[in-house]
Amino acid sequence: MEVHNVDLTISAVAESQYPKTDYPEIALVGRSNVGKSSLTNVLINRRNFAHTSSQPGKTQTLNFYNVEDQLYFVDVPGYGYAKVSKKERERFGQMIEQYLTQREQLRGVIQLVDARHVPTADDVSMYEWLAYYNIPTLVVGTKSDKVKSNVWNRQESQIRKRLGMSADASLILFSAVNKRGKDQVWQWIEKQTGM
Ligand code: GDP
Repeated sequence: MEVHNVDLTISAVAESQYPKTDYPEIALVGRSNVGKSSLTNVLINRRNFAHTSSQPGKTQTLNFYNVEDQLYFVDVPGYGYAKVSKKERERFGQMIEQYLTQREQLRGVIQLVDARHVPTADDVSMYEWLAYYNIPTLVVGTKSDKVKSNVWNRQESQIRKRLGMSADASLILFSAVNKRGKDQVWQWIEKQTGM
């Protein structure tokens, strides 16, 4: 999809603030700093639209980006992030859990992992959790420009193995620098949202 119009509809702290539209939604999850804002910006052809929402002490929100009045990208704050209070984390964890398990408009989740490294324990828990709830998931290995092309295959198998991905589960290596994988990610989104 060629994107021209995007806006941040709402940074929601409660379900009552979620959009009332029936546009399909694709959520993006991953550890802080994994490259979520960068992937979002590449998908919507912007240099600096989505900002990382993970600064210390900042209120954590679910950010709904309206893309061409056709779908929403829902930016889910980075997990494995310890600087907010335990209470806030618990409250927010519940909101995310409810969103991911109950939101009717949700068509799939893009889970980002760093292509340079073996997925972390948090990455594994997240993937297993999504699989347990049968939520269609695309794993995107970010920063692939930092991985030499002769070890891409090895990195891919390592990610698959560590996350326990089945053979037919989707994994795409991506780079925000050279835009590798952009079209494939869009193809997955289009398939999930029936666009
Ligand atoms: P977020 O916290 O998940 O939203 O992560 P950001 O998108 O803000 O990226 C975190 C850092 O990684 C920034 O310094 C980015 O410039 C860098 N980064 C993100 N994606 C890539 C990529 O594909 N390649 C490279 N080399 N760096 C990246």
